[in-house]
Amino acid sequence: MIRLAIVSPCYNEEEMLRVSAGRLIELLDSMVKEGKVSTDSFVLYVNDGSLDASWSIIEELHAGDKRISGISLAHNVGHQNAILAGMMTARGMVDGVVTIDADLQDDIRCIPQMVDLYEQGNEIIYGVKVSREADPVLKRMTAQTFYKLQESMGVQTVYNHADFRFMGRKALDGLALFEERNIYLRGLIPLIGYKSATVDDVISNREHGKSKYTLRKMLNLAFDGITSFSIRPIQIITVIGVVMLILAFAMLIYVLVSVIMGHYVPGWSSLMLSVWFIGSVLTIAIGVVGTYIGKMYMEMKRRPRYIIDRSLLSDN
Ligand code: UDP
Ligand code: MG
Repeated sequence: MIRLAIVSPCYNEEEMLRVSAGRLIELLDSMVKEGKVSTDSFVLYVNDGSLDASWSIIEELHAGDKRISGISLAHNVGHQNAILAGMMTARGMVDGVVTIDADLQDDIRCIPQMVDLYEQGNEIIYGVKVSREADPVLKRMTAQTFYKLQESMGVQTVYNHADFRFMGRKALDGLALFEERNIYLRGLIPLIGYKSATVDDVISNREHGKSKYTLRKMLNLAFDGITSFSIRPIQIITVIGVVMLILAFAMLIYVLVSVIMGHYVPGWSSLMLSVWFIGSVLTIAIGVVGTYIGKMYMEMKRRPRYIIDRSLLSDN
């Protein structure tokens, strides 16, 4: 039996919190009854600098039931950092953490399945959206295009998985070794390693309140999702430079043929050639400088190079 924390980030979720807490406590009760989790398992709300009554509702829920706890962040730091704050707070107190959005759009029936999969030896269990019918068309389309773009940039993530997942204590300790600031958990967590599994998550509509992900927040997340993991955009500059250089040679041949045939305007050939040649040299140069900056950027993150799972070394 494990001690579980359900971590849920909230930003202006006053309409949703009571409903959400009621359902999560009901779920914990049933899991305790089935002997899956211990009686001291709890819900941890992370108030991400809400401007509404969210925090006072969390305090009130806590007064009514000690299994509902909360932390309140000093200001709004965004979904990803709020989840991280919750996980790092729960780490050390529990055997595993489930992260789920406060609007409970994810299927909470996946949580007992996640616990079972953990008991079977998986350290990370990803909730994977099997149907996005409930998502507005635009959201679904932009999300899917983004996943594809990310893949083409070489970022490894779990397709159609957002931040509904279970992490065991070892995985949480692994995550704590990543010290970077611009975090994108969907890219970071697969880097930890360990055996993982997925569960099918049928998502539903948001019942109360509006989406807290503004377009700006969504674009920022997408941008971080690519630039925190891939320096391919920089490499593309070098490729463009090389293509321009090839074009410069094609232009050279074209100019020579034109000169031989006698169709040319004086000065045109040298001008055309220099434009393409200088253009390609500059672009390649930017690409090369960029490649070094890209490496420095990756070094700067000081990511762990390995995480040891088991060891047979004796203490002395
Ligand atoms: N959230 C947060 N900080 C923010 C924005 C959102 O903690 O700056 C929380 C929000 O309260 C919710 C979760 O992140 O629990 C996901 O947000 P939302 O449901 O609005 O996003 P959507 O499902 O529309 O993508
Ligand atoms: Mg939502």
